Amino acid sequence: MTLAIDRTQLEIPAAHDIPAVAGASLRVPLVTGGDIGYANLDHAASAPCLDAVRDAVDEFLPWYASVHRGAGFASQVSTRLYERTRDVLRRFVGARRTDTVVFTRNTTDSFNLLARSLPRHTTVVVFDTEHHAALLPWQGPNVRRLPTPRTRLAAVSAVDEALADAPQGPRLVVVTGASNVTGELLPVAEIAAVARRHGARIALDAAQLAPHRRISIKDLDVDYVALSGHKLYAPFGAGALIGRADWLRAARPYLAGGGATKLVTEDAVVWNDGPERHEAGSPNTVGVYALGVACETLSRNWDALVAHEQALLARLRKGLEGIPGCAELQLFDAPVDRVGTVSFVVDGFDPGWLAAVLSAEYGIGVRDGAFCAHIAAKRLIAVTGGEGRQAVRVSLGLGSTEEHVDRVVLALRQIVARGA
Ligand code: PLP
Repeated sequence: MTLAIDRTQLEIPAAHDIPAVAGASLRVPLVTGGDIGYANLDHAASAPCLDAVRDAVDEFLPWYASVHRGAGFASQVSTRLYERTRDVLRRFVGARRTDTVVFTRNTTDSFNLLARSLPRHTTVVVFDTEHHAALLPWQGPNVRRLPTPRTRLAAVSAVDEALADAPQGPRLVVVTGASNVTGELLPVAEIAAVARRHGARIALDAAQLAPHRRISIKDLDVDYVALSGHKLYAPFGAGALIGRADWLRAARPYLAGGGATKLVTEDAVVWNDGPERHEAGSPNTVGVYALGVACETLSRNWDALVAHEQALLARLRKGLEGIPGCAELQLFDAPVDRVGTVSFVVDGFDPGWLAAVLSAEYGIGVRDGAFCAHIAAKRLIAVTGGEGRQAVRVSLGLGSTEEHVDRVVLALRQIVARGA
């Protein structure tokens, strides 16, 4: 037993500051334990746990208990931290006072919840290059899938036209903040303005944006934000859907079971109206708490974080330019603001093989494949003149260092020089 819990009972523990070059503050596993550390260049898939998160979870682990279900001390602490994290998330995304925060497993779960909560006959407008989590939950004749145009301006116009053609009734636009394939930022505020003009709502897929940039629901004027803890330097299994409460309050509970109900009698159920309505079952108390600590930590460090990533991104892209046959995938023709994610193909080299060699010979972890965005990968590779459906993705974050970037560039140069 430790008195330290008294502090966690009252507040989210103070977060550690992330230094400008932040690799040092992260626990990044070593491959060999020797002088070649593992270079995790796969932050877009899942980001390593922040020290502040690990410390907070360590402190909380002996005390977790079911929330909303007990007068015991551990249960009270858990309930307090769990509920407090809704406020943390609300602040993290600059939510309106009236927005609700439903804890989910991840972004995929959040969008499936939203899809199940749409009023009947809602028209959904979505670009077909979205991550499958934002593309596939919407099915049926009311879904308008738009090919993503090659300029941001044309993307806004495409949404405008689709909404102008949409039948009367509820409408929802779904758009990602940052592409998980190219890191490019979508014109979310502009699309939201168009959506408003047509009386549509807009849902932001913040899985890739939230770990890299400050988000404000109010400033962007979006209705929903979906995000995942494991991309925000917290462990797996906790995410959130944040936004307007009305559709969620009116919807059938996402899961039926304990915690979602106010009253159950022999022949009736009265469901909760709040976020618990969609959180049946014992929730992931530790994951939610960890997500909150991660958000608090990032919120205190945006300037350092963005500077760190942008410097590394420039270094990476310059390095890749010098590799013969290497072509970056791009959503848009003109350069746009982007997070530290770069996908590329190298003429004559299989992406899966490249990734395997980077791992086995250089201790570098990258992603290869179509990144759960099959349409995007195929189409963007075609723009480079290639025919494949797969690429290599390097994604930077707080666990990345200049040495990691230089290592991947040098490795690619050496692999290409010696041939497939
Ligand atoms: N949206 C984007 C843009 C993503 O990159 C991802 C995951 O890679 C998701 C949604 C889905 O996230 P999760 O797998 O955590 O549900």
